[in-house]
Formats: sequence, C-alpha cells, structure tokens
Amino acid sequence: MVILYDMSETPAFDKLSILRLAFVGLADDELREMAELTKLCTYPVDHILCHEGVYEEVFYIIAEGNVRITKKISENEERVFRISGKGDVVGEMSLIQNAPRSATVKTSTECTVLEMEKKDFETMLSRSPRMALDIMRTTLSRMRENDQQAIAELQKANKVLSQLDRNKLEFIQVAAHELRTPLTVLKGYVSVLNSLTAIKDNSSLNDVVSGITKGADRMHEVVNMMLDVTRIDNETMKVLPTLLPLKPIILDLIKGFTSAIDERKINITIEQSVDTPLINADPSLIQKALHNLLVNAIKYTPDGGSVAIDIHPAVLENNSPAIEINFKDSGIGLDTEHHELIFEKFYQVGDVAIHSSGKTSFKGGGAGLGLAIVRGIARAHGGKVWVESIGHDETNLHGSIFHLLLPVDPQSPRPVTK
Ligand code: ADP
Repeated sequence: MVILYDMSETPAFDKLSILRLAFVGLADDELREMAELTKLCTYPVDHILCHEGVYEEVFYIIAEGNVRITKKISENEERVFRISGKGDVVGEMSLIQNAPRSATVKTSTECTVLEMEKKDFETMLSRSPRMALDIMRTTLSRMRENDQQAIAELQKANKVLSQLDRNKLEFIQVAAHELRTPLTVLKGYVSVLNSLTAIKDNSSLNDVVSGITKGADRMHEVVNMMLDVTRIDNETMKVLPTLLPLKPIILDLIKGFTSAIDERKINITIEQSVDTPLINADPSLIQKALHNLLVNAIKYTPDGGSVAIDIHPAVLENNSPAIEINFKDSGIGLDTEHHELIFEKFYQVGDVAIHSSGKTSFKGGGAGLGLAIVRGIARAHGGKVWVESIGHDETNLHGSIFHLLLPVDPQSPRPVTK
C-alpha cells in the first residue's frame, strides 16, 4: 500500500537550499523560478518513486532521506546501481530521453523530495542553459560511474569464471589420467584373450572380445581427447613440424572409415589443386584435426549424403602462404548462433540425450571436444578454423563447410578471430 503523507506533515524545507545543493552553478533567480515549479512530498520507506520499464513524467530532487536505485538483470536478480541521498537528482534521464525508466528508484528510509513535472522540467531546461549543463554533467558522471561499476563486476565475474574453468580443466586432467591406467590394463587383458586359441576358435566369444576391444579403443580415444583439450588450454601443446603432403593423410583417414562410409552410403570425394604446396606442420596434430573434421562431416550427414574435401593454396591475413582444406557436407547444417560456440570445449548443439551412440552413425554421440581440439591445433600452427552454413535444416539439408586454414610454415601462435 502506498501512503502519500499528508502535505501538512512534511516538515518545512527550504526549497532554495535543496536546489542549491543539486544545481551548483545556478543563480538565485533561476533557483527561485525552479522552486516555484516544484512541490515537496514525503514518502514512507519502500515507496517506489520510479518504476523500471514504465513511462513516467516526474523528476525528483532528494531533500531528506535515501533512495535505492536498482535494475533487474534476470527474473530473480537485481543489481543495485547506487544509493542516493540529500541533494541528488533522480529520474531525469528518462525525461530527457523520452524513454521508459531504465531503473527502479525506491525509498530506503522515509524520504522528502522535491518533485517537478516533465513539462516544467523541459521549460526550465530550455530557459536555463546552466541548469541543462548541470543536469548533463550529473547524468554523464553517473553513466561513467555505472560503466565503471559494470566493468569492475565483469572483471570480477571473469576472474571467477577463469578459476572455474581451471578447476574444470584440472578435473578433466585427473579423470583422464585415472581412467588411462585401468584402461591400459583392460586392453592388455583383452589382447591376451585375443591370442587364445579357445577364443579364436569360438565365433560368439570372438564377437564378445572384439566388442570389448572396440569399446576400450573408443574409451581410449575419448581419454586422449580429454588430455588433448587440457594441453590446448594449458598451452602446452608442442608443434613438431615436418614437411607434409595432406592428400595422402586424408586418403588414409578415409580408408579407416571404409565400413561406416559403405554402410551409410556416403559419397566422399577429395580434390587437390595442382599448385598446392607441402606444408610444414606437426603430422600427428594435423592428422587429429583432419580426423575430427572428417568424423563430424560423416556424423552430421544422413545416409546417402556426400562429403566433398577440397585442398587449395591460400594466404593468411599477413599475406604469408597457406593452404585451405574445406570439408563440405550435405548434412543437417548449423544455425549461425552456434558458429563460434561449437569451437568451445564441451559445446554441443541440441539435446545430447537424443544423440545416437555410434561414433560415425548419423548424429552419433560425442564428447563435444572435437572442434575445440581442431581450433587448438589450428591456432598452435598460427592458422584458423571456421564454419559456413546457412542454417540447421534436416529436411532440405543445406549442409556445412568447415574451413581449415594452415600456414605453409608454422607461425607463432596468436589469438585468431573468426
Ligand atoms: P561432438 O563430439 O558433439 O561432435 P564437436 O566439438 O566435434 O563435438 O562438435 C560440436 C558440435 O558442432 C556438434 O555437437 C554438432 O552439433 C556441431 N557440428 C560439428 N560438425 C558439424 C557438421 N559437419 N554439421 C553440422 N553440425 C556440426
């Protein structure tokens, strides 16, 4: 319930001395003129003077008491901009802008204020350049204060996020190392089983053991990806360059997926421009990057689709020679809002729970690490990776093109945008 105190209860305030506090450079005749256009009101604690998001027509000068200025930042959270007290002006910004209130102003004690209507405020502004200047100064310094406060809060939040990211990374590193040891033991036992004639001669036991081998290999791959991601984030990924022809590497990778490609009837082609030079790059890292791009192109393309790989010379932003490898698929595509985020670790589009399980089956599950590793490898060589797609569409299948740009000679790693 809002109780507007009876005016007779408002103690006697000298309007001129309050206005003098608020507008330092104003002459007495201007202050008197202003005083005549204001009325004194007293409000109880918790009374809202300005409602965020609402067009209101009053501007306030605080004569006594305090108000809290807050802004909603989410459904259940608000941010306190500041506490204002005697001599402060509030509610002027939205009147100048002809905009709804950008924040809520609520009394935090009983408060006496001088109120001025919008039309009178505008008359005063047009008549008194000094008042206009004063208001401008107050408003600008407030905006600057708000900016500085927001920057300080962002810096604090960033620090917390970086710490959380480091904790997550440490957890991944410990988990990967802890998993690796029992996995190595398991793989050792499986290879012993594989060599036993009793198993070799029994086709159903053979199927069981080959199932365990496949599962253990896949787990090994995921554990290695977890370790790769921690190396990228700790910037401890070492590049050991040697001269590489890319086409044979890609052909070899494709060979590894022959059964999946045949089963899913995916048509894979590879073209290389004749003038494509060899590149100086780390073979195992480049193989990993190309492997992840190829797996994704197959995984996100429905049965019967196509993947076209194209290799050609290119240049980096600094004009040094590079080569570009494009993976163009006829798959489900990707909405623009995900184009940057898919390169962040653990980022996956859509509901992970509905992914199918096979590594190369359509929309098969993954750890959301593949593209983060590709980006880490590209950056470690001084190159970059990005995606082009007009959007996700599982009916029309516009597909995606993943571009990997690698320098002919590794450049010092640098943060690359795009
Ligand atoms: P995941 O293990 O989930 O495949 P990635 O880091 O390799 O992790 O990819 C991140 C996300 O990017 C995937 O979950 C998928 O939504 C999207 N994505 C990657 N490649 C493609 C592609 N060729 N077509 C459509 N979406 C893709």
